[in-house]
Amino acid sequence: MDDWSREAVSTLKGVGPRLQEKLARLGIRDKQQMLFHLPLRYEDRTRITPIGALQPGQTAQFEGEVLQAAVSFRRGGRSRRVLLVKVGDDSGILTLRFFHFSAAQQKLMEKGAWLRGFGEVRMIAGAAEMAHPEIQPIDPTHPPPLPQALTPVYPTTDGLHQQGLRRLMRQLLDELADKGLQETLPEDWLVEQGLPAVSDALLRLHNPRDAADVRRIQAVRHPAQRRFIVEELAAHRITLLQRRAELAALPAPRVEGGQALQQALQAGLPFRLTGAQQRVIDALMGDFARGRPMLRLVQGDVGSGKTLVAAMAALPVIDSGYQVALMAPTEILAEQHARNFAEWYTPLGIEVVLLTGSDKGRRRAQKEGLIESGQARMVIGTHALFQQSVAFSALGLVIIDEQHRFGVAQRQALRDKAPDGLVPHQLVMTATPIPRTLAMSVYADLDYAQIDELPPGRSPVVTSLIAAAQRPALLERVRAACDNGKQIYWVCTLIEESEALQCEAAESTHQQLCHELPEVKIGLVHGRMKPAQKEAVVQAFKNGELQLLVATTVIEVGVDVPNASIMIIENPERLGLSQIHQLRGRVGRGSEQSYCLLLLGQQPSRQVMERLEIIRDHQDGFVIAEKDLELRGAGEVLGTRQTGEAGFRIADLLRDRALFPLAESLAERLMQPDQVQRRQRLVANWVGDRARFSDIA
Ligand code: ADP
Ligand code: MG
Repeated sequence: MDDWSREAVSTLKGVGPRLQEKLARLGIRDKQQMLFHLPLRYEDRTRITPIGALQPGQTAQFEGEVLQAAVSFRRGGRSRRVLLVKVGDDSGILTLRFFHFSAAQQKLMEKGAWLRGFGEVRMIAGAAEMAHPEIQPIDPTHPPPLPQALTPVYPTTDGLHQQGLRRLMRQLLDELADKGLQETLPEDWLVEQGLPAVSDALLRLHNPRDAADVRRIQAVRHPAQRRFIVEELAAHRITLLQRRAELAALPAPRVEGGQALQQALQAGLPFRLTGAQQRVIDALMGDFARGRPMLRLVQGDVGSGKTLVAAMAALPVIDSGYQVALMAPTEILAEQHARNFAEWYTPLGIEVVLLTGSDKGRRRAQKEGLIESGQARMVIGTHALFQQSVAFSALGLVIIDEQHRFGVAQRQALRDKAPDGLVPHQLVMTATPIPRTLAMSVYADLDYAQIDELPPGRSPVVTSLIAAAQRPALLERVRAACDNGKQIYWVCTLIEESEALQCEAAESTHQQLCHELPEVKIGLVHGRMKPAQKEAVVQAFKNGELQLLVATTVIEVGVDVPNASIMIIENPERLGLSQIHQLRGRVGRGSEQSYCLLLLGQQPSRQVMERLEIIRDHQDGFVIAEKDLELRGAGEVLGTRQTGEAGFRIADLLRDRALFPLAESLAERLMQPDQVQRRQRLVANWVGDRARFSDIA
């Protein structure tokens, strides 16, 4: 059957190329997209209010005769003309004020004309006024009929007027009322849930019946909205479940053995695995045994020991004759991983190769040779690993550290480096706590495991808020701590996303601190430094040659210096709570009592203080993430902006959390074999080829 709703908007009467281009700016290309361009709010134009009864603040409709119309000049020059029009009915007089107006508009409002107008009432010196009301000329003996329903107000764009958009929408809604849309959801399910059919729901949202309807819509409680929210959530979930099923059907590298290597690695450690680490390792071994490509997300708070889990998981893969690639988001982190792996793997006779952007020329060619020949069994690097010139001989497992910094394309590129059409196993590690509700729906295509325990002997980091005025006292404390052999991070933040500016800020802070604390050995590390330079500074800090390390948020991920026990974060109000929590995880790794000191900017607002008190009062990444989620929205917390507005048309992961279970049960129902067509339509309608919101796989 032809689906009229998939026709281009240009098939509507009155839509030429220019209007088409404006609609496209609103994301409207076909009729269906236009039907889902829902009103922002509604106006009541079903009644005329007598002018004498207009109330300030009210948005109202009037009818009256123009008693007087005059252009005057505002102070500040000739160009600033104002058109003042006085209209009256039997009950009173209203002034209309226009700061921009055309000659044609002016002509409509000449003395003696009758107008119907709609706008917001203000009282200026006791007299009622409207600025830029919408007006239309009327014949007082035959006024046009009043609308029966509330008037929708749509999101619009430059040069596209509300009235024009509304006229177009009326044409489309007439077509909808006439032809109807094919129902996307099972009818009996809708009846069961008391939710309206697709056409009814759309008509209702564009033209609500009454004020009660509007109140429910505004509270996002209307059955017509709930229907679409649940539908959209279900469509996304189905997409993920399908992708997961597709992946599971593909051949994966066969992984067995490795126990002897794992035991040898453990025997060399100065500590025992935590129960949580062991549980997650067991889960990963279970994934390998299933013979399908593994796709698992492992979440563990900062310091929970994810690196070792990765090292344990990689051994059976290597033992089975495959290579393992570990990707880190920064060079510092890649270098640190390479050091750890070399320490653990070299005694086992496994060759570890580090490949980053700073490997050039001969050295790079040599490393690529090791990877291509298969001699390098464990390959660690940054995004340099994605590059075309890097060819693996037998890639069996890809490990991604700190998932949200890599994009889909990069992950795909690495996956494509596996031999013989095999899909390598994938392990994604993140410190970002994913609230359970989100984990279930956003990551429906991944297996999920959590390292929910920290190694023993860690004491909670004592966190305090320090007012900007107390900076001198803070410096004293820094001096004393350094005297006592302590090591300190000093983290600089900036509002702008600009890395260059952030680095400059760190440089000037570094200079200032060197001046203020001449006896302290102070180092500086930021993203713009040469990799070798960065590495040297971090190493010097690690060796204790530096006492204080000024850094940008580049140290957020990974840097591991157990002796560092104090972290100062300047202007923490600029960071998300989860980000502060991750930074804070850099301290509290040794036996020493650790401190995180949040050095506030000038005059923090109440909200800022409330947010930072959350971080001060909580150590649990999950609690912090939940609160952060409430404050900032899902996209920010997950670090995948696709999750936010861009990914969803109607649903909002945070606002609509309560509807997840319903969406899940709907998705399950639609995954039944007899629902194939419905399922396909649903996914085509809602997800289409837009950015996928779980970008893993
Ligand atoms: P993250 O999960 O933040 O990546 P790391 O893997 O960097 O954490 O581990 C943090 C520190 O904890 C490292 O110094 C690591 O050697 C140490 N560690 C890992 N597992 C254990 C354990 N079971 N017992 C004690 N220390 C451990
Ligand atoms: Mg880590």
